[in-house]
Amino acid sequence: MTAIVLDGAAVARDIYAQLKERVAALSQMDVRPGLAAVHAGDNPASKIYLRNKVKACNAAGIHSELHPLAADCQPGVLLATLEKLNRNPRVHGILVQLPLPSHLDTALVAKAVAPEKDVDGLTWHNVGALIAGHPLFEPCTPGAVITLLERAGIAIEGREAVVVGRSAIVGKPMALMLTSRGATVTVCHSKTMDLGRHTRRADILVAAAGRPRLITADMVMPGAAVIDVGINRVAGQGITGDVDFARVREVAGWITPVPGGVGPMTVAMVIANTVRAAERSAAARAA
Ligand code: NAD
Repeated sequence: MTAIVLDGAAVARDIYAQLKERVAALSQMDVRPGLAAVHAGDNPASKIYLRNKVKACNAAGIHSELHPLAADCQPGVLLATLEKLNRNPRVHGILVQLPLPSHLDTALVAKAVAPEKDVDGLTWHNVGALIAGHPLFEPCTPGAVITLLERAGIAIEGREAVVVGRSAIVGKPMALMLTSRGATVTVCHSKTMDLGRHTRRADILVAAAGRPRLITADMVMPGAAVIDVGINRVAGQGITGDVDFARVREVAGWITPVPGGVGPMTVAMVIANTVRAAERSAAARAA
């Protein structure tokens, strides 16, 4: 079997085309969706991700603005920036590029961004709402995985799903979102014994460990959907995922490439959430 390759870049382009129609409808009400990105420090990978997000804003016709902060900025400076953006009516979505410099606690951001502008879905308010089943926004990377599965017509309800990774931004919300859609979910992590014993049971396998080629062909059930969230920079090999793509594609039913799979879709989810935030704000104004 050779797997169907899920082209995240193509699905993302399709999403931007659909968003343009919603952006045009908002402009009839004099509303232009706006995304503000805050970047503390000068992490080169973060700069590339932010450049992609600005390009995506342009593709969807939405306003974007970048707020760079010094690598050694004080927590108060970050908080003041977020408070200002929370109050700015032109800004509907706020994105804080992670990771933050080590002296800044991610919890600051998780508590300070206004929930209605939290297009990344990572504030504690939205995480709690996700657990309760009523999120204002679903976190973007797990949202990208769900959208790729749904667009490919891959059933989630009733399926065995295995998530490798339990981080607050990917693994944990991924497990919640698969559970809420009716999958039976196993979460594996760095302390899991015999990872393959779990992954081999998966109809849907999501790899989000940040370990190059952790998932090998013998760890995959024939016909499974294998979604690779990992982005690993390996010297001499460029960017690779967590899945041994060349071999696993011979076993799986569906597979995402890295790059070109979950990455571009994550960006599309940020933009889609920003448009949704602007629609909610316009509806509240009109009410
Ligand atoms: P993280 O380091 O916070 O978490 C990694 C998780 O993997 C941990 O829970 C850890 O227990 C688990 N893990 C590590 N080694 C393991 C092993 N050998 N076996 C099983 N589990 C193991 O990372 P993160 O922020 O969740 O990101 C994970 C990966 O996804 C990274 O490569 C990151 O760059 C990538 N990522 C991609 C996108 C995207 O848009 N495509 C977005 C966010 C993160």
